[in-house]
Amino acid sequence: MGAITDQELLARLPDTLIDHDNKEFYRGWLERRLVLNRCADCGFWHHAPRAWCPQCWSHNVVPTEVSGRGTVHLLIFLHQGPPAPGVDYSTPHPVATIELAEQEGLRIQSTIVNCARDDMRIGMPVKLTWVERYGAPYPVFEPAEA
Ligand SMILES: [Zn+2]
Repeated sequence: MGAITDQELLARLPDTLIDHDNKEFYRGWLERRLVLNRCADCGFWHHAPRAWCPQCWSHNVVPTEVSGRGTVHLLIFLHQGPPAPGVDYSTPHPVATIELAEQEGLRIQSTIVNCARDDMRIGMPVKLTWVERYGAPYPVFEPAEA
C-alpha cells in the first residue's frame, strides 16, 4: 500500500476541515495510526496540531505515532446530539477525554467502546482501537489492563 495522497485524504474525509497543520493527523486515521505532533528539539508532544511547539516555540515539529495507551481523564454522557454513525444517544453516548501515556496533559477527545456504561470510570486504563465512521477509520478507545 502506497502513501495516501493529499487528494485521497480530502476525498475520504469530506466533512473534516483539513489543513496543512493537521493533515498528517488525519492521514494517520486512514492508516489506522494515531499520529500527533512531537517537537524534534525538546521532545514535547502537543494536540491539536500546530505548526510550532507550544513548549519551546520551535517549528521543528514532527508527526509521530503514539502508543495508543492512556487513561480516561474526563468522561461525560450525551443523551442527545447531532446524528452520527455508530453514536447511540439512548444508551447514552460516552464522550471521553483520554490522557495519553506519552506525556502528562497530552489529551485527545474520543469515545469508549467494548465497555458497559457502568464500568466506565475516570482513571480507567484504555487502549486505542478503530471503528468505521463515514466510510473511514475513526480512533476510539477500549478498556486495557492496567
Ligand atoms: Zn519544543
